[in-house]
Amino acid sequence: MERKKTRAISVGGVKIGGDNPITVQSMLKTDPQNLQETLNQLRDVKRAGCELIRIALPQEETCKIIPFLKREVDIPIIGDVHFNHRIALKAIEAGIDCVRINPGTINNIKKLKEVASLARQRQIPVRIGINIGSLEKRILKKYPKPDANAMVESALSCVKLFEDEGHEAIKVSLKASDTLQTIEAYRKFSALSDCPLHVGITEAGPVFSGAIKSSVGIGILLHEGIGDTIRVSLTGNPVYEVTAAYHILRTLGLRKRGINIISCPTCGRCKVNLREVVEDFEKEITHIDTHINVAIMGCEVNGPGEARDADLGIAFGPQSAVLFSKGAVKRKGIPREMAKDVLVEEIHNFSH
Ligand code: SF4
Repeated sequence: MERKKTRAISVGGVKIGGDNPITVQSMLKTDPQNLQETLNQLRDVKRAGCELIRIALPQEETCKIIPFLKREVDIPIIGDVHFNHRIALKAIEAGIDCVRINPGTINNIKKLKEVASLARQRQIPVRIGINIGSLEKRILKKYPKPDANAMVESALSCVKLFEDEGHEAIKVSLKASDTLQTIEAYRKFSALSDCPLHVGITEAGPVFSGAIKSSVGIGILLHEGIGDTIRVSLTGNPVYEVTAAYHILRTLGLRKRGINIISCPTCGRCKVNLREVVEDFEKEITHIDTHINVAIMGCEVNGPGEARDADLGIAFGPQSAVLFSKGAVKRKGIPREMAKDVLVEEIHNFSH
């Protein structure tokens, strides 16, 4: 897997592109007028490992939340702006770390230049977020049926506009809900530009199917070396977006944050409710960022082998379970109802 070389930019101190690790971002889903609810959700995603957070700024007055959130939580904030470029200007004045603009919804070169100019003066990076559902009118004239080429042309011309204004701290996204179309757009753009790429599949869907769609799309691109920061878009709690993003990065060996659970699918040999044990365990460990492989296995067929190979493992037998730590048996005769707590306790010993 050879990573495509992109220019490095800094979003509120978090480096994106170049040789920097691929970062995980998500988006808040609360009403930005509701400061407390938004702050609570921001704390939840940060605890889950989110490294950059985007917030919708639908009206100018919503920019007042920026200094409030920045005071409360140490995480770079990206303001998502559509239609009214003055919101982007106001967000920059209010101390935002990055603005995301969509040239298709601003749809005015002079206004885009105003954003580029202020962003350059204040050294605020900008994400040029192309979305197939909202391309510029002039692009739609040329491509009545928008496709990957239309997205790439729109992105390249907006990048040029920003660079002509002297602003090179740009990242780009080219999103469609069709996974293959998204992959094609990113591949084409990546071959033509060194801008760092924010990769994601837009409107991917509910948590289960959306995570699969995103894993395929984002996974293929990352495996080709394309992508510097990722967002898994799901109709659901943004904590799931962060969790899914780390699963993708861990599966590809690109990041090592958090607990990797190895659990068997169970079968007729399993004498415990393994699903319950795994789900209860998973709920308690989302905030742990130390990378540990933990096996939770249903019976003696593959249980002892997997549990021994993992950093920590629990293998159930017909009556009770055996705990392994670093390849050796640490405890025997653990009753099923204690298994989750024993593992969680062991995780804490392991990570301290
Ligand atoms: S480890 Fe045992 S319970 Fe789990 S799938 Fe394999 S045979 Fe079935």
